[in-house]
Amino acid sequence: QRIGVVAESVSGETRVAATPATVKQLLGLGYEVVVESEAGAASGFTDQAYLDAGAGIGDAWDADVVLKVNAPSEAEIAKLRHGATVAGLLAPAQKPELLQSLADAQVTALALDAVPRISRAQSMDVLSSMANIAGYRAVIEAAHVFGRFFTGQVTAAGKVPPAKVLIAGAGVAGLAAIGAASSLGAIVRATDPRPEVADQVKSLGGEYLPVNVVQEQSTDGYAKATSADYDRAAAELYHEQAKDVDIVVTTALIPGRPAPRLLTAADVAAMKPGSVIVDMAAAMGGNVEGTVAGRAVVTDNGVTIIGYTDLASRLPAQASQLFGTNLLNLVKLLTPGKDGQLTIDFDDVVQRAVTVVQAGDVTWPPPAVSVS
Ligand code: NAD
Repeated sequence: QRIGVVAESVSGETRVAATPATVKQLLGLGYEVVVESEAGAASGFTDQAYLDAGAGIGDAWDADVVLKVNAPSEAEIAKLRHGATVAGLLAPAQKPELLQSLADAQVTALALDAVPRISRAQSMDVLSSMANIAGYRAVIEAAHVFGRFFTGQVTAAGKVPPAKVLIAGAGVAGLAAIGAASSLGAIVRATDPRPEVADQVKSLGGEYLPVNVVQEQSTDGYAKATSADYDRAAAELYHEQAKDVDIVVTTALIPGRPAPRLLTAADVAAMKPGSVIVDMAAAMGGNVEGTVAGRAVVTDNGVTIIGYTDLASRLPAQASQLFGTNLLNLVKLLTPGKDGQLTIDFDDVVQRAVTVVQAGDVTWPPPAVSVS
């Protein structure tokens, strides 16, 4: 079968679904690979690099399997062959109409963001690999706008205090942000309703700030919506921290719900002028009152709130490298014969979960399975 690697049409997208390195491995699985001209340009991968890897450059939409980063537009869906398979970030929970369009086009669709979070599927988990990059980049964005040292210094010209950074939510993105901020020399604190993250926060150089209200324990490692008592205690913590810290990075998400509100306008107003907030939950409604998705805004008291939703794309080459490797690992799973033939085994929970449309039928959501 032929795999097509297409150029992304979403504005500001710099990633590409396969790199020259992953193309080589796709060829090794028995596929022919065609890359759309300039598909890798924004990630620094030239057409020549893909040619050198063994791909062709040409019409990548006319393929049996189309690899993408973002969901295809209606116009792009129309370019897919009947019976083709398309893989990308499809957000099946948020976009039922997209699934219907894909089904109407008689294709099979694989949602990379529907990979179940079990150890066996970790190598295909783009949400984690992108969250890791985005958490790091959030700190770089904050440092850039902050315009001061993160690390404390004692110099002949005087003393510079270290920056204080608060990370709200210590999942994959939050932990990456903690690591980046502490390696720049800042004083880093982090809070999360899941107390089991305390050791991870510490091992990355941060201090864990607990909210001392007992939370219902989650059974799947994900946060549940927090209780009103928890939220009241957390609000106090955020207000106290807002007065003290220079940088806040918020990463709090609850699967299947809008992002929880952590910082109010009053908290932001209590921050020092020149402080910076990066709201990594901007695309899901934001953790901070006043966030504008996709933009940086400056409040009346001189606090910059960054709501960029393309943080992973701001490290294009590595985002593409990790994305491409996750996707390659999925294609490997779906090519057990290494014969260039994609097959989907619905008895396998991973394959079942990612297949959101099969040959014209919407197959999302998958049946509930125990992943413990
Ligand atoms: P996420 O993106 O769903 O949420 C981000 C963080 O926000 C989480 O740590 C969550 O606890 C926190 N949060 C939720 N409500 C909050 C609130 N009101 N205040 C502050 N913080 C709040 O989470 P994630 O980054 O995807 O990771 C969740 C967990 O799953 C992690 O422990 C991670 O290690 C684990 N995980 C496991 C696998 C795997 O086994 N394959 C893959 C990915 C993640």
